[in-house]
Amino acid sequence: MKLTNTLNLKRCPHCNIASPNIYLQHQFATTDANDQNERIWCNYVCSNCGGVTLASKYRSSDIALEIFPQPQIVEDCIPEKAKQFLQQAIETIHAPAGSIMLAASAIDAMLQEKGFGKGSLYTKIQDAATDHLITEGMAQWAHQIRLEANDQRHADADAALPNEEDAKRIVEFAQALAEFIYVLPNKVNQGIEKTKEQKQ
Ligand SMILES: [Zn+2]
Repeated sequence: MKLTNTLNLKRCPHCNIASPNIYLQHQFATTDANDQNERIWCNYVCSNCGGVTLASKYRSSDIALEIFPQPQIVEDCIPEKAKQFLQQAIETIHAPAGSIMLAASAIDAMLQEKGFGKGSLYTKIQDAATDHLITEGMAQWAHQIRLEANDQRHADADAALPNEEDAKRIVEFAQALAEFIYVLPNKVNQGIEKTKEQKQ
Protein backbone atom coordinates (compact mmCIF):
# COMPACT_ATOMS: atom_id res chain seq x y z
CA MET A 1 0.00 0.00 0.00
CA LYS A 2 1.21 3.50 -0.90
CA LEU A 3 1.55 6.03 1.92
CA THR A 4 0.23 9.42 0.80
CA ASN A 5 -1.62 12.21 2.64
CA THR A 6 -4.40 9.72 3.34
CA LEU A 7 -4.30 6.07 4.35
CA ASN A 8 -6.52 4.05 2.02
CA LEU A 9 -7.86 1.37 4.34
CA LYS A 10 -11.25 -0.27 3.74
CA ARG A 11 -12.12 0.22 7.42
CA CYS A 12 -10.64 2.19 10.33
CA PRO A 13 -8.75 -0.28 12.60
CA HIS A 14 -10.22 1.51 15.64
CA CYS A 15 -13.88 2.30 14.91
CA ASN A 16 -14.30 0.03 11.85
CA ILE A 17 -16.23 2.67 9.91
CA ALA A 18 -16.28 1.82 6.18
CA SER A 19 -14.30 4.00 3.71
CA PRO A 20 -12.75 6.06 6.52
CA ASN A 21 -11.08 9.43 6.06
CA ILE A 22 -7.69 8.69 7.66
CA TYR A 23 -5.35 11.62 7.06
CA LEU A 24 -1.62 12.20 7.69
CA GLN A 25 -1.09 14.29 10.84
CA HIS A 26 2.61 13.99 11.60
CA GLN A 27 5.73 12.12 10.50
CA PHE A 28 9.26 11.61 11.77
CA ALA A 29 12.34 9.51 10.95
CA THR A 30 14.26 7.03 13.08
CA THR A 31 17.44 4.99 12.56
CA ASP A 32 19.03 2.08 14.40
CA ALA A 33 22.03 2.43 16.80
CA ASN A 34 24.45 2.52 13.82
CA ASP A 35 22.54 5.27 12.00
CA GLN A 36 21.32 2.66 9.54
CA ASN A 37 17.87 1.34 8.57
CA GLU A 38 16.22 4.74 8.41
CA ARG A 39 12.45 4.58 8.41
CA ILE A 40 9.81 7.31 8.23
CA TRP A 41 6.91 6.84 10.67
CA CYS A 42 3.60 8.40 9.68
CA ASN A 43 0.78 9.07 12.13
CA TYR A 44 -2.64 8.94 10.46
CA VAL A 45 -5.78 10.16 12.24
CA CYS A 46 -9.31 8.85 11.59
CA SER A 47 -11.69 11.81 11.16
CA ASN A 48 -14.52 9.70 12.61
CA CYS A 49 -13.05 8.38 15.87
CA GLY A 50 -9.72 10.23 16.25
CA GLY A 51 -7.87 6.91 16.50
CA VAL A 52 -4.26 6.96 15.29
CA THR A 53 -2.84 4.43 12.85
CA LEU A 54 0.95 4.28 12.53
CA ALA A 55 2.61 3.35 9.24
CA SER A 56 6.30 3.10 8.34
CA LYS A 57 8.19 3.41 5.05
CA TYR A 58 11.72 3.96 3.72
CA ARG A 59 12.63 7.48 2.60
CA SER A 60 13.24 6.21 -0.93
CA SER A 61 9.77 4.68 -1.37
CA ASP A 62 6.14 5.41 -0.50
CA ILE A 63 5.28 1.74 -0.05
CA ALA A 64 4.18 0.90 3.52
CA LEU A 65 6.46 -1.48 5.43
CA GLU A 66 4.20 -1.91 8.47
CA ILE A 67 0.81 -0.63 9.62
CA PHE A 68 -0.33 -0.62 13.29
CA PRO A 69 -2.91 -1.65 14.30
CA GLN A 70 -3.92 -3.92 11.46
CA PRO A 71 -7.59 -3.67 10.44
CA GLN A 72 -9.57 -6.59 11.84
CA ILE A 73 -10.41 -9.27 9.32
CA VAL A 74 -12.71 -12.26 9.59
CA GLU A 75 -11.16 -15.43 8.16
CA ASP A 76 -12.93 -17.28 5.35
CA CYS A 77 -12.66 -20.67 7.05
CA ILE A 78 -15.27 -19.62 9.66
CA PRO A 79 -18.76 -21.01 8.80
CA GLU A 80 -20.86 -18.50 6.87
CA LYS A 81 -23.48 -17.66 9.51
CA ALA A 82 -20.97 -17.12 12.32
CA LYS A 83 -18.73 -15.20 9.91
CA GLN A 84 -21.54 -12.79 9.00
CA PHE A 85 -22.45 -12.20 12.66
CA LEU A 86 -18.80 -11.66 13.59
CA GLN A 87 -18.18 -9.32 10.66
CA GLN A 88 -21.24 -7.25 11.59
CA ALA A 89 -20.25 -7.23 15.28
CA ILE A 90 -16.84 -5.78 14.30
CA GLU A 91 -18.43 -3.21 12.00
CA THR A 92 -20.89 -1.96 14.63
CA ILE A 93 -18.55 -1.53 17.62
CA HIS A 94 -19.52 2.18 17.56
CA ALA A 95 -23.09 0.95 18.41
CA PRO A 96 -22.08 -1.22 21.38
CA ALA A 97 -25.43 -2.73 22.42
CA GLY A 98 -26.06 -4.06 18.90
CA SER A 99 -22.45 -5.16 18.48
CA ILE A 100 -22.63 -7.21 21.69
CA MET A 101 -25.79 -8.99 20.51
CA LEU A 102 -24.16 -9.78 17.16
CA ALA A 103 -21.00 -11.09 18.85
CA ALA A 104 -23.13 -13.28 21.15
CA SER A 105 -24.96 -14.58 18.06
CA ALA A 106 -21.60 -15.35 16.40
CA ILE A 107 -20.48 -17.30 19.49
CA ASP A 108 -23.81 -19.13 19.57
CA ALA A 109 -23.60 -20.00 15.84
CA MET A 110 -20.04 -21.35 16.20
CA LEU A 111 -20.96 -23.57 19.16
CA GLN A 112 -24.11 -24.82 17.40
CA GLU A 113 -22.12 -25.67 14.29
CA LYS A 114 -19.77 -27.74 16.49
CA GLY A 115 -22.73 -29.71 17.82
CA PHE A 116 -23.45 -27.75 20.99
CA GLY A 117 -26.99 -26.70 20.13
CA LYS A 118 -28.83 -27.34 23.37
CA GLY A 119 -29.72 -24.91 26.12
CA SER A 120 -28.59 -21.40 26.87
CA LEU A 121 -25.31 -19.90 25.72
CA TYR A 122 -24.03 -20.66 29.23
CA THR A 123 -24.89 -24.38 28.85
CA LYS A 124 -23.37 -24.57 25.37
CA ILE A 125 -20.12 -23.02 26.59
CA GLN A 126 -20.00 -25.38 29.57
CA ASP A 127 -20.64 -28.40 27.32
CA ALA A 128 -17.96 -27.25 24.88
CA ALA A 129 -15.44 -27.03 27.75
CA THR A 130 -16.44 -30.45 29.13
CA ASP A 131 -15.94 -31.97 25.65
CA HIS A 132 -12.59 -30.13 25.30
CA LEU A 133 -13.64 -28.11 22.26
CA ILE A 134 -12.53 -25.08 24.27
CA THR A 135 -10.28 -24.85 27.33
CA GLU A 136 -11.50 -24.20 30.88
CA GLY A 137 -9.84 -20.80 30.67
CA MET A 138 -11.84 -19.93 27.58
CA ALA A 139 -15.03 -21.09 29.30
CA GLN A 140 -14.28 -18.85 32.25
CA TRP A 141 -13.63 -15.94 29.89
CA ALA A 142 -16.84 -16.77 27.99
CA HIS A 143 -18.95 -16.76 31.11
CA GLN A 144 -17.93 -13.20 31.83
CA ILE A 145 -18.89 -12.30 28.24
CA ARG A 146 -22.21 -14.13 28.53
CA LEU A 147 -23.33 -12.00 31.44
CA GLU A 148 -22.81 -8.81 29.51
CA ALA A 149 -24.43 -10.22 26.40
CA ASN A 150 -27.49 -11.32 28.36
CA ASP A 151 -27.74 -7.88 29.88
CA GLN A 152 -28.37 -6.63 26.37
CA ARG A 153 -30.71 -9.34 25.22
CA HIS A 154 -32.93 -9.21 28.27
CA ALA A 155 -32.81 -5.41 28.44
CA ASP A 156 -32.49 -5.48 32.22
CA ALA A 157 -33.72 -2.11 33.50
CA ASP A 158 -30.88 -1.95 36.04
CA ALA A 159 -28.10 -2.83 33.60
CA ALA A 160 -25.98 0.12 32.46
CA LEU A 161 -25.74 0.69 28.72
CA PRO A 162 -22.52 -0.87 27.41
CA ASN A 163 -19.77 1.29 25.95
CA GLU A 164 -17.36 0.61 23.09
CA GLU A 165 -14.85 -1.01 25.45
CA ASP A 166 -17.49 -3.55 26.55
CA ALA A 167 -18.29 -4.34 22.92
CA LYS A 168 -14.58 -4.66 22.03
CA ARG A 169 -14.06 -7.17 24.86
CA ILE A 170 -16.89 -9.39 23.64
CA VAL A 171 -15.91 -9.12 19.98
CA GLU A 172 -12.35 -10.00 21.04
CA PHE A 173 -13.61 -13.16 22.71
CA ALA A 174 -15.72 -14.10 19.65
CA GLN A 175 -12.63 -13.66 17.46
CA ALA A 176 -10.48 -15.71 19.84
CA LEU A 177 -13.08 -18.48 19.78
CA ALA A 178 -13.15 -18.43 15.97
CA GLU A 179 -9.34 -18.50 15.94
CA PHE A 180 -9.23 -21.44 18.35
CA ILE A 181 -11.87 -23.69 16.81
CA TYR A 182 -11.58 -22.82 13.09
CA VAL A 183 -8.57 -20.74 12.08
CA LEU A 184 -5.80 -22.59 13.98
CA PRO A 185 -7.02 -26.13 13.11
CA ASN A 186 -7.28 -24.96 9.49
CA LYS A 187 -3.67 -23.69 9.59
CA VAL A 188 -2.53 -26.97 11.14
CA ASN A 189 -4.26 -28.97 8.40
CA GLN A 190 -2.71 -26.79 5.73
CA GLY A 191 0.70 -27.30 7.37
CA ILE A 192 0.25 -31.07 7.36
CA GLU A 193 -0.79 -31.04 3.70
CA LYS A 194 2.16 -28.84 2.74
CA THR A 195 4.76 -31.06 4.45
CA LYS A 196 3.12 -34.14 2.87
CA GLU A 197 3.63 -32.62 -0.59
CA GLN A 198 7.25 -31.72 0.18
CA LYS A 199 8.02 -35.25 1.39
CA GLN A 200 6.71 -36.90 -1.75
ZN1 LIG B 1 -11.91 5.47 13.25
